[in-house]
Amino acid sequence: MINLHIKSIFAVVFGLFLASAVQAQDKVEVDYESYSGFTCDPVPKLPAKEVHPSLWFTADQAAAMRVKKDQDEQAAGLWKQVSESQFLIMDLMPEPTINDDKKVVHQYYGYMAQAAKYSGFMIWMTEDETEKQKFIDRTVALLERAYDGPVYELDPKEKSGPTDEIYLGTWIQNYAAAYDWVQPFLTQEQDKAIRARLVKQCDYLSKNIYRWTSRPHNHLSKPAWGLGSCALALSDERDAINWLGVALNAANENTKYFFSADGIYREGSHYLGFSWTNFLPFMINYKNVSGVNQFEDFKPVMEWGVAVRNSNGWLPNIEDSFIRPFPGHMAAAMYKDTQTFLHSSAPLSEILMWAWNTTDMKPFEAYTERTTYNWTGATWDYTLPLDEYLTYDPTIKPTMPDSSPTVFLEGGQSMFRNTWKTSAPEGRYLLFQGVAEADNHEHYEHLSFIISAEAQMMASDGGYTRKSYGEKMRTQWYKQAVAHNVVTLNGEAPVDPAQNVTPVSRHRINTDFFDFEEKEAPYASGGKLRRAIAFAGESYFVVADIVSAPKGGEATAILHGGRGTMEGDENYRVWNYEADTYGPAARLHVWTFGSADDFKIEDAEGELTYLKGDFAVFPYTKASGNGTEQVILQVLVPSAQGKGGPEVSSVKQGNQILVTVKDGDITDTYLLQPSPAPAEFDTLKSDATFAWVREEGGKVSKFAVREATNLKTNRTVLMESAEAKTEAKAR
Ligand code: MN
Repeated sequence: MINLHIKSIFAVVFGLFLASAVQAQDKVEVDYESYSGFTCDPVPKLPAKEVHPSLWFTADQAAAMRVKKDQDEQAAGLWKQVSESQFLIMDLMPEPTINDDKKVVHQYYGYMAQAAKYSGFMIWMTEDETEKQKFIDRTVALLERAYDGPVYELDPKEKSGPTDEIYLGTWIQNYAAAYDWVQPFLTQEQDKAIRARLVKQCDYLSKNIYRWTSRPHNHLSKPAWGLGSCALALSDERDAINWLGVALNAANENTKYFFSADGIYREGSHYLGFSWTNFLPFMINYKNVSGVNQFEDFKPVMEWGVAVRNSNGWLPNIEDSFIRPFPGHMAAAMYKDTQTFLHSSAPLSEILMWAWNTTDMKPFEAYTERTTYNWTGATWDYTLPLDEYLTYDPTIKPTMPDSSPTVFLEGGQSMFRNTWKTSAPEGRYLLFQGVAEADNHEHYEHLSFIISAEAQMMASDGGYTRKSYGEKMRTQWYKQAVAHNVVTLNGEAPVDPAQNVTPVSRHRINTDFFDFEEKEAPYASGGKLRRAIAFAGESYFVVADIVSAPKGGEATAILHGGRGTMEGDENYRVWNYEADTYGPAARLHVWTFGSADDFKIEDAEGELTYLKGDFAVFPYTKASGNGTEQVILQVLVPSAQGKGGPEVSSVKQGNQILVTVKDGDITDTYLLQPSPAPAEFDTLKSDATFAWVREEGGKVSKFAVREATNLKTNRTVLMESAEAKTEAKAR
């Protein structure tokens, strides 16, 4: 334990050293300690005696693992992928040399480690002795060659090297599983030789991971989780407790900084999935071998993955990310007795299974068809279908959440939804993003929003990059404010109130007829944005901005409508989406109004990427005006293909604007102004900073106000109060 303690102090000191190097460039010392994220128990626990197999299942449980394949279609499909895997039949590859192309070297280690894990698993899946011996021999042959070639001559510290620590993390996890499965069949001599190879790699990982990556990073936690799995496989080794301790501490460095307390992963969806491929196997291994259940600590991550999914079940392409599926089915079996805020009675396991079963996999399947790569970002290294088979539990029935589909997370993401149903034409989804930025993979997208509706992606984030992290386009366009649906002031997006401090959210309303929330964030050079989202009738969205710029300046509301053609003029634009892998043909009608005297809307063009390689230029708009206090209001109405939008008009008085949205016999009126002053329009009078009045068949049926003491139509007093109130009411 003393040893461990020294190691973690070393990590902190070394981390600070690095942070001060960053400071010279950015003038901000990165604080890795103060964010809200979580940690797991850092005290390593190993079993009294090493037992094999134990990482994924015990010998007693092997029969159940065998019969699973016949239990339902999903299991049968996974079994087909596993039993027909190329890794069970491919010839053992020739050992590469240090001079080989880095792809050759990476693929060699990735494939050989996968082959070992697949082959080891199959030993337990057959009762035919000849077959069994064939898989034993193959697993032994693969393990006896583990880490041959130039692996110890290559330094992972060299950027994009073929033995990067993120790959090492997955290879060791695969070898650990393979060893665990084949160990009972090894001769003493074989066991000794194979253990020596694995011990050497564990030693290498435990001594170097902080040298390779000295700050919280997925490059620190991925190898840590891998090392943890191998420590469990070799638990009788003298150093195993130390390896596991290093692993737990290094993983904690990441979870406490990159996750919010409510499970948001700050590096974005892609890096969540990329980390999942390591933390999920480790957590299962640790629970099985040592009885330590980290799934309780990770529960918010699982709930977040369900809550943040868009209308088609995809994690958003915000921060450095493409859209991603959320593989909650692989964790479902760990939450069979776990209550969740997502459902009044069903356990989290059923919600996770539902989320996976309803995810539209079309774009990811098309991507794999096109490129041979899967969605994990680790195709050469990670045994995806095998891990899916291992974790799949056919007894868990899928259950849709029954909690409010609109979810406000304290970590700064709010999801406005009218239904949990996935890929439904009537589905409406808006993600309002205001998560405190971490120091890796961050984009300038504070208080931005994305929309999916009619089962199609509409208003969107620019995305990660065209194809790869290293492209100039990533830093010059994709991470910049202009590639996001933000409000810039003199070209800059809002920022965090302070490092690791989430922008303020307030005035939350969640009813079945109107949802609302305001977020506030400052601009680095002074001024602030108060941006509110209103979900009127739970059918369309209004985005209401108050921009304060004491020194004056140009505020610009940017709107990327997504992968569509755009038409329209003056205050109106419509994006038309054709049927594609992201959804059916549909439309997004948008009206934008501003209070500034010089308010204008310009058309522009910029790239969008939803999935790696699928980038193209699409139209977007920039609505801008100058002033010290101004408001901008956007009305965003999704509709089916070919369908027209409502009639929308606006009047303004100074910096107060009134917008009317008329659709059939429903008329919605909106007031927006920078501060609670008396606003007197013909049809509406109020001191609200935001008001909504709905008339159905000529009668007021509902209304909502922010910070109001009064609200009147030309006929009726709707509310009066001595104190300013924020509320929504149906009459
Ligand atoms: Mn982005």
